[in-house]
Amino acid sequence: MSSLNVVFFYFINVAKFAVSATHSNYVTMIVFKFGGASVKSARAVKNVTDILQRYPEDRIAIVVSAMGKTTNAMEVIADHYFHKRKQDLSRAVAERKHYHREIVDELFPEKGHPFHAEFSALFEALESRLAKDPTLHYDFDYDQIVPFGEMISTKIISAYLNESGIENQWMDIRKYLKSNNAFREARIDWDLSTRLVRKGFHFRDARIYVTQGFVASTIDDITTTLGREGSDFTAAILAHILRAEHVTIWKDVPGVLNADPKWFDNTVKLEKISYLDAIELAYYGASVIHPKTIKPLQNKNINLFIKSFLEPDAEGTLVGNITYDKLIPSFIFNMDQILIRISPNDFSFIAEDNLETIFGYVYKHGIKINLMQNSAVSFQICINNDKRKSRNLIDDLEQDFRVTYETGLELITIRYFDQSTIDRVMINKDLLLEQTYKQNIQLIVRDKG
Ligand code: ASP
Ligand code: MG
Repeated sequence: MSSLNVVFFYFINVAKFAVSATHSNYVTMIVFKFGGASVKSARAVKNVTDILQRYPEDRIAIVVSAMGKTTNAMEVIADHYFHKRKQDLSRAVAERKHYHREIVDELFPEKGHPFHAEFSALFEALESRLAKDPTLHYDFDYDQIVPFGEMISTKIISAYLNESGIENQWMDIRKYLKSNNAFREARIDWDLSTRLVRKGFHFRDARIYVTQGFVASTIDDITTTLGREGSDFTAAILAHILRAEHVTIWKDVPGVLNADPKWFDNTVKLEKISYLDAIELAYYGASVIHPKTIKPLQNKNINLFIKSFLEPDAEGTLVGNITYDKLIPSFIFNMDQILIRISPNDFSFIAEDNLETIFGYVYKHGIKINLMQNSAVSFQICINNDKRKSRNLIDDLEQDFRVTYETGLELITIRYFDQSTIDRVMINKDLLLEQTYKQNIQLIVRDKG
């Protein structure tokens, strides 16, 4: 190499360095959420590394759920524990350990790998927690046990990513997300969490953080949870607080579809939807997005992508500040509904004091009303037919009212409906009740007998 070339070479490299240095000051900060299905097996965890390799520059806060169906299994464990069913309990714990152990063995085939000892210690900690006597407070005990699913999944994933050269820092979300003590439905303390999250997730010690969804803790460090399917919400909270560029929820579907393929043929993927449409669809029961997820993002104008972890290069769905006149119609099916008709015993009208009594009972039993309608002589509510809850509600209502009800119904919501969409869902159905509000129609139907 001539001396001129050496100098030239030197300059090119300095220039390159300067470019990458400015870049690293302005790298984007994003939030990824991996749900249970995306981490349900060793193969799925390996797929997470493939996805992350596509984002070599970004700062990423990764929010992870429990693996596969672990949260359901942990709920069963919490239940056995609370009711002191010792044998069932140890069987269920052994089963969960086996499930995770197989994943760990496949990810870390080397017997002497230090993660095996860490893994055993984590399960030992769970087992000694379960050896203590339960309290009298079910929801409290639940929150002390069920988050183990997220703790173990994040430990495994963080260790495996480090092993694969994707350096990251494991974070205990309970140090940063603070909530009240409404166990199983804890409410985030936004001010305190904002301070703690900004201090903790500073990206000086790592480019990638791996942390738990669904979990938080009180100011005195008692673990809480945010409600089932709460990991999407965790991702949104972190994105809001850290002012992330965008959030991606990695799912086993290609994006937000206009109906659940379980109930509907020829579904269509929605390319781009507004925050409002996303909130409405989630509210009426489209299960792809957790209803609480959108507001914190909308508030800071943060884009949300719903993408398939199986096709990470495909477009997915963008939820954002998007305008259009009308979206293609979406269909939401709520199955196994019960319609309860409530009327005063004395053939009078339903009045405000009656409504107060009715709502009091609904609230007492922790029931969510999917649809309600008032007429001169009766008040009707449609709810999910959770056998125990609806029985208790009806028992209470019957003390004060005449109650009739019908089960085995379906509640269909169509957003951006028209006559042809109604006709399409009404094939072989009888209509019991219909309600429209702006762009939405809701139909309570039953199969034609
Ligand atoms: N693992 C929790 C659940 O299954 C939270 C989540 O996945 O969003 O409900
Ligand atoms: Mg989920």
